[in-house]
Amino acid sequence: MRNYEKAKKCVKKLRLEWVLVLAEIALTGWTYYVYVWLMCYQTLQDRVEVSILLSVYHLLFILKVWCFLKTILTPRIPVPPEFHFDEKTWNQIELDSSLQQQTKVFLGVKTTTISNKTLNYCYICGNVKPDRCHHCSRCGTCVLRMDHHCPWVNRCVGFHNHKFFFLLIHYTFTYSMFLVITCTGTLPRIWRRDWVGNLINNEEIGRTLRNTSAAFMLKARSSLSEIPTAELTANATSLTVSKSLIPAALAISASAPSSSSSSSTAEAAAAASTASSRTSLVDDAGLSPVFIQVVAVIFIYLVIMISLVPLLTFHNQLLDGNITTLEVYRPVSLPNCKGNSEIFDLGSVSANHKQIMGSQLWLWPFPVFTSLGDGVHYPVQG
Ligand SMILES: [Zn+2]
Ligand SMILES: [Zn+2]
Repeated sequence: MRNYEKAKKCVKKLRLEWVLVLAEIALTGWTYYVYVWLMCYQTLQDRVEVSILLSVYHLLFILKVWCFLKTILTPRIPVPPEFHFDEKTWNQIELDSSLQQQTKVFLGVKTTTISNKTLNYCYICGNVKPDRCHHCSRCGTCVLRMDHHCPWVNRCVGFHNHKFFFLLIHYTFTYSMFLVITCTGTLPRIWRRDWVGNLINNEEIGRTLRNTSAAFMLKARSSLSEIPTAELTANATSLTVSKSLIPAALAISASAPSSSSSSSTAEAAAAASTASSRTSLVDDAGLSPVFIQVVAVIFIYLVIMISLVPLLTFHNQLLDGNITTLEVYRPVSLPNCKGNSEIFDLGSVSANHKQIMGSQLWLWPFPVFTSLGDGVHYPVQG
């Protein structure tokens, strides 16, 4: 029973943890539909403009989704086997300071924590923690060069995926900015097409209706004795798309004799019906669904863009100084030194960035693994 409750809690927790990821996937899918289908294919007329917008959009979309998938799906690099000790062996090492020092030298561990421990042991994973390694309680494992646990990807950001995460926030920002700018630029045209365009269309339909009705009424005048001639003449000359007259036109077409004026009747009925539906679009629908969805895209991505600014700034600063988020809050130090978080700073922004982004500049924009080192040993100051 206890196991059942535990399993139930686990499933509930898992579901909650994936909610944000699923929401992001749903948002991306919906945005693709609105931008590509509703906005580019159904609204914009200029083929050159559509080609340029779709090319840039798909480039950013592919890079963003690629980074997102790589951040989530890249397997974590495990702590090497030489760091694993069973609890009994570790207890012996922990009690003997010289043995502890020898183990530290053998494993190549350089730093100590703020509590000045020579070595840190993870009792859950059963291993000594290498430099910059931390145990993540959410993932339930030790993560090499752990930066933080990110709820937006439901994964730890560490040595194995730090570059992908860094690119993901940059591409998400650029993608959001592109959407906000291009959607805002297209919004007046959607408004014109949906509202003003419909009014113009209705005027054209009204004109067609007037001409068709006039022809029909002249032919039908003799047979429609119950309708006064004066009213028919007035309708033929002044029929508009107003709601009050369209049902009248439909009524006339429905009651017209089928032999002499069937084609005129059909044309009048079709025109009246189209005009009626168009008129109801403008009069009854208010804001069109396309307009509302494009406005929603602008609002959502504006919020994302603004909230990403501090995150981008913070993570750029971290890479500039070759420091992780956890090291900002839990400083590490070299033995007999005061705790500071700059011991991994290699002296230049370029050298620090290369630790994560790799030494080949042309590969920096792509989510392929190019980080330097083995995730266990790191160069330190001095
Ligand atoms: Zn652990
Ligand atoms: Zn984690």
